[in-house]
Amino acid sequence: MPSRQQLLRVRRIFLASSASLGYLLLCWLAFASGFMQLSVAGMLLLTSAVLGSSAIFLALTWFNLNLRFHDPSLTLPQMAWAIGVIFVSVYFAENLRALFLMMVLVVLMFGAFRLDLRGFVRIGLFTVFCYGALMAALMHKGVAFDWHIEAIRAPAFFVLIAGVSTLGLEMSRLRDVLQERNRDLHVALERIQQLAITDELTGLYNRRFANEVLDQQKALADRGTYDFVLCLIDLDFFKHVNDAYGHAGGDSVLCQLSKILQRLVRDVDFVARQGGEEFLLVLSNTNEIGAVHAMERLRHTLRTTVWEGFPELRLTISVGVSRYLTPEPWQTTMQRGDRALYQAKHQGRDQVVVI
Ligand code: GH3
Ligand code: MG
Ligand code: MG
Repeated sequence: MPSRQQLLRVRRIFLASSASLGYLLLCWLAFASGFMQLSVAGMLLLTSAVLGSSAIFLALTWFNLNLRFHDPSLTLPQMAWAIGVIFVSVYFAENLRALFLMMVLVVLMFGAFRLDLRGFVRIGLFTVFCYGALMAALMHKGVAFDWHIEAIRAPAFFVLIAGVSTLGLEMSRLRDVLQERNRDLHVALERIQQLAITDELTGLYNRRFANEVLDQQKALADRGTYDFVLCLIDLDFFKHVNDAYGHAGGDSVLCQLSKILQRLVRDVDFVARQGGEEFLLVLSNTNEIGAVHAMERLRHTLRTTVWEGFPELRLTISVGVSRYLTPEPWQTTMQRGDRALYQAKHQGRDQVVVI
């Protein structure tokens, strides 16, 4: 099955093919009116060349073979082929030359959203070449030209081609600007989404995102094969840190602690700053015993941690631990954790309590 982008390309080829069908209809009309100096076999050959080329471009895109080309939309080859076919048919309908050559402009419009300046110059030069070749072929056929008229006709045709190409180029530029704006918007949106879920100071996830994670954790646990434990960590007497080192000093300690927490938990676990000097850990696939073990390890690590910029500072934490008991709301688990933390503070701080 082709990708979305490939399907869009297929759609464009379909559109171009329907324009080709319109052109074929015109050719058959000219044939019926006696303007086309071609036999029925010749007309059938022209028809199959047009339909066959559409089928080939469609098949190339449908089977992803177009991806091997520099421009997978195959815009230039499609346009060159269409312009070639128009000039060939004009060779057989010399009286309708001016009318049929108008169709070249329609082909150029199809390239408007895909070609860059180089593409337009190439297709423009190709058209001039075809025009020259057509005139040479017609002269060779014995068509007598009124050179006074031809001296106006050819420049008029080229001016039209240049005008339409310039317009197409402008549309192509607008498309590029739009695409660039879209990309910028996408980047800005990602940044906003990131900002909405992270804590500005520490770069950890914030409470809002933690709530979303807890919704997911509950859904998983309620299915029956999964356990998780909440650990609420609060720094003891953090106000003293601010008093001693200023708010900026306190901020620095909070950032350092965040890094320690991130380093300590497993990849599957989750860390968030709940606000102030309070942090939340969600430990997955474990029970209270495992969680207490991990928190005791953390408590000992922090007691001996040398804080960068404040070598004499000694910090301790109090931790409230509670396991999620299905099918309770996670808010209930959180309340138990809060109570456990309160108890840890009440019992003298620097300890882990489970409820
Ligand atoms: P306890 O042991 O009872 O937890 O004492 P504490 O001083 O840590 O607790 P309390 O809740 O009384 O004070 C918390 C302090 O944390 C007060 C506040 O200024 C500080 N704090 C909260 N958020 C920030 C922050 O983003 N940066 C800094 N530097 N300090 C903060
Ligand atoms: Mg505190
Ligand atoms: Mg607190």
